[in-house]
Amino acid sequence: AGILNFCANNYLGLSSHPEVIRAAVEALEKFGAGLSSVRFICGTQSIHKDLEEKIARFHQREDAILYASCFDANAGIFEALLTPEDAVLSDELNHASIIDGIRLCKANKYRYKHMDMQDLEAKLQDAQKHRLRLVATDGAFSMDGDIAPLREICQLAQKYDALVFIDECHATGFLGPNGRGTDELLGVMDKVTIINSTLGKALGGAAGGYTTGPKPLIDLLRQRSRPYLFSNSLPPAVVGCASKALDLLMESNAIAQSMAAKTQRFRSKMTAAGFTISGKDHPICPVMLGDARLAAVMAEDMLKRGIYVIGFSYPVVPKGKARIRVQISAVHSDEDIDRCVEAFTEVGRKHGALP
Ligand code: PLP
Repeated sequence: AGILNFCANNYLGLSSHPEVIRAAVEALEKFGAGLSSVRFICGTQSIHKDLEEKIARFHQREDAILYASCFDANAGIFEALLTPEDAVLSDELNHASIIDGIRLCKANKYRYKHMDMQDLEAKLQDAQKHRLRLVATDGAFSMDGDIAPLREICQLAQKYDALVFIDECHATGFLGPNGRGTDELLGVMDKVTIINSTLGKALGGAAGGYTTGPKPLIDLLRQRSRPYLFSNSLPPAVVGCASKALDLLMESNAIAQSMAAKTQRFRSKMTAAGFTISGKDHPICPVMLGDARLAAVMAEDMLKRGIYVIGFSYPVVPKGKARIRVQISAVHSDEDIDRCVEAFTEVGRKHGALP
């Protein structure tokens, strides 16, 4: 009883929003529990087409294609788009699903150092011998809460004639003035070619993923992308949730702003208390502790004080960089944030993480 969850990807609190829940129930009643089919056989209803159109409009792109998850979207895109004559250049800390998606394709693979533009440039120079180049990066990185330098990446992509792909799972709905994501935050919406993102985090938190971008690319994915062709269509209730979440975000960015203010409150109070918080301005707030055991025992003690957080250690993060990853949500009240900071301060002192 009374436990506060500080480790969910429910950034905007939409998974418990009454209108989102009502939209799911209505979709369930009107469209049924499921389609018992992949999309291209009998798995497409008007709500699937409407949601794809809405996603494209939200991101200001030409078209969009739905998947059962963003993991699937990442598994499908590289193989469908790239041939052995092409090259893909991937940040070394990209999400596992991007890494797996790239493994499935036959393009030439380059891995550049995390957010290192000199290294990316050197690799782009080397990749000039290939037919097509695709730079792939997370927009916001989930372990550190840091944001890819998209402006510089897009400049390099322009210089070396490359396309840019971003995974926006930890950005869609809340980064940028209107919550469009990292590309909006950094003013490069017209320079990023392909966006993959999830419906399972800020956009209602149920499930589902998508690719949005140029229409010919989306047409190609409908013909060639294996997770799209060979996996069941998204259930109507899930489509209903995501569709309502996007409506709410397109009406107003008040929820995203409230989350940003709470993030600021947490980051500044924790820093003042003496903790090191990785990243900047992102609701992923990793409390850096270094030692794996310290992170684990502190997380246990936080739970005893009613705060649910999880310690991350090797191999999820590099050795010596153990942390407790806190995630802020719009549904946290200012009092919740303060309670969390107080608990961290007490537990940190008890275990010697603070003087
Ligand atoms: N990409 C990133 C950066 C993620 O953090 C995740 C989820 O953890 C995914 C992709 C996969 O998203 P989904 O849960 O929709 O499969």
